[in-house]
Parts: sequence; structure tokens; C-alpha cells
Amino acid sequence: MQRFPCPFCGPRDETEFHFAAEAGKTRPEPAGEVGAERWAEYLHLKKNPKGPTREIWVHTTCGEFFLMERNTVTHEVVGSSALGAES
Ligand SMILES: [Zn+2]
Repeated sequence: MQRFPCPFCGPRDETEFHFAAEAGKTRPEPAGEVGAERWAEYLHLKKNPKGPTREIWVHTTCGEFFLMERNTVTHEVVGSSALGAES
């Protein structure tokens, strides 16, 4: 079992968290003009990087979304921060 750092609650059990999205992934706009292929790419394709990554996670206990930096190879969590506060 791993502990993840919620920036609002502190370290908590990994079972309290869910992956939400890749960090920096932007919704294509304007939505009415985006083709089906571009929508499918946005909704379903993930980069799935090997190594250091930045992701948006949600802590289901407090309901807050936040940025988590972790290594997908070693499972090391480097840090977490509130959205908009990341450097
Ligand atoms: Zn929390």
C-alpha cells in the first residue's frame, strides 16, 4: 500500500485517490467545430510516459483535484500541489 500526498489533507492511503487526467492536456475549442477524430483523440488517447510525469488526481475524501508528480517506473511520488499553484 502506498501513501499519496494530498496538498490539502496530507499523506493518505492510495485507495482514497483516483487518476483524473494528464496535466497540461487542453480541451479542443471551439467544441462545435472540433471533428470526431480530434474529440476521440482528446478523450481516449493518453501519452502513458515512462518515468517522471505530471498528472491531475482527485482525493475522493476531500473532493479536491490537484497536481501530482510521480515516476511511473519507480512509483516514487515527487510531490503534489494545488492546481494553479504549481511552478
Ligand atoms: Zn484531500
